Amino acid sequence: MTVVTHSPVWRPFTQHALQPGAFKIIHAEGAWLTAEDGTRFLDAISSWWVITHGHRRPEIMEAIRRTTESLDQIIFAGFTHEPAEALARRLVEITQPGLDYVFYSDSGSTAVEVAIKMALGFWRNRGEPRTRVVALEHSYHGDTVGTMSAGARSVLSAPYEPLLFDVARVPFPGKGKEQETLDALEAFCREGAAAFIAEPLILGAGGMLAYSPQTLAEMKRICERHRTLFIADEVMTGFGRTGTLFACEQAGVVPDIACYSKGLTGGSVPLAVTMCRREIFEAHYAPERARAFFHSSSFTANPIGCAAALANLDIWEKGDARERVAGLCAMQAERAARFKTDPRFSAVRHLGTIVALDLIASQRGYLTTIALDLIRFFNGRGLLLRPLGSTIYVLPPYCVTGEELDLAYAAISEAADQFGSCS
Ligand SMILES: *Cc1c(COP(=O)(O)O)cnc(C)c1O
Repeated sequence: MTVVTHSPVWRPFTQHALQPGAFKIIHAEGAWLTAEDGTRFLDAISSWWVITHGHRRPEIMEAIRRTTESLDQIIFAGFTHEPAEALARRLVEITQPGLDYVFYSDSGSTAVEVAIKMALGFWRNRGEPRTRVVALEHSYHGDTVGTMSAGARSVLSAPYEPLLFDVARVPFPGKGKEQETLDALEAFCREGAAAFIAEPLILGAGGMLAYSPQTLAEMKRICERHRTLFIADEVMTGFGRTGTLFACEQAGVVPDIACYSKGLTGGSVPLAVTMCRREIFEAHYAPERARAFFHSSSFTANPIGCAAALANLDIWEKGDARERVAGLCAMQAERAARFKTDPRFSAVRHLGTIVALDLIASQRGYLTTIALDLIRFFNGRGLLLRPLGSTIYVLPPYCVTGEELDLAYAAISEAADQFGSCS
């Protein structure tokens, strides 16, 4: 296999001393990546959760091509363009009623940073000194210093610990432990928390940990009772991953602020939005410049990204996305059920298009080398799977077929024989 080893590229989340190489991909299509030497990989994690419909979905590629005929990056203060205007209108329509304003940026992390800044700006401009942010145990909100602060602390954030701001943390609402979470949240909200941020229904990087829509709805009610702003980080869950367009829909919850990025353009090009309720925009609307919302990314509302997102929304509204997602949810449910009684795995869980299961192994935790061994094993079988420690998850693009899924699950079963402690 062609592996690039001598390169000036410093790759993300990579210990180059242990993972020196990278497969050089020259073609992507549907659920498959093709390397320079012809080796093919089934992209069973949607290229780190971004690709929704499939790689290089023709309608999205066409929208990108068409837009480059007339536009590239345009300054977004004092100027605007149709792709951004049209996309904002469409997003207000397609999201739950109440999310009336759209702030553009370019990644999930910036969308979350923007959300936190909006929440603090809201309280400051209203003259109520609320600054405390509450977050869920095991949560992940990005890798910038601000979003790392909101996320769970671990060996990944340890070197930056002195710079991270303090966040109030409530326990993860695991089955049977929901009341503990709700009580802790209520206590922080009663003390006047500015905002509560959560990944709705499932925590991604924290280990694909799911919790119930009832708990999500109850957490939102607690926030409402104390006027704490509820920020939904739908960066991973948005655009169908949990079976519905947005995860919050399953709980009947309308967030005060919502962050979308990964699937916004179908995963094709970077773009992010932070959407909010009218009151939050209005708190920044005043004759004084000092009350403005001071945030900008150079690539705010990139027209090509906006056009890709518009093509993505067309696929959701007029195309096959909803049927594909429903079909994939059913296929994943069936396969998860097969592993439920498998003694080599624990905590087999399924939510929407996502299945996750914990390999019973003697090593545990993110830094154990079992994850690297598993990645190598799967790569060797033509599979892109990247376990989080010993948690293996399958989060495929929606075009994946049952036979393709079976390739992934067959390899997972084989891996359990080779690396599990029950073997
Ligand atoms: C991926 C992710 C982010 C960060 O998005 P980036 O585009 O990688 O900055 C934030 N929140 C959640 C829930 C994510 O899964």
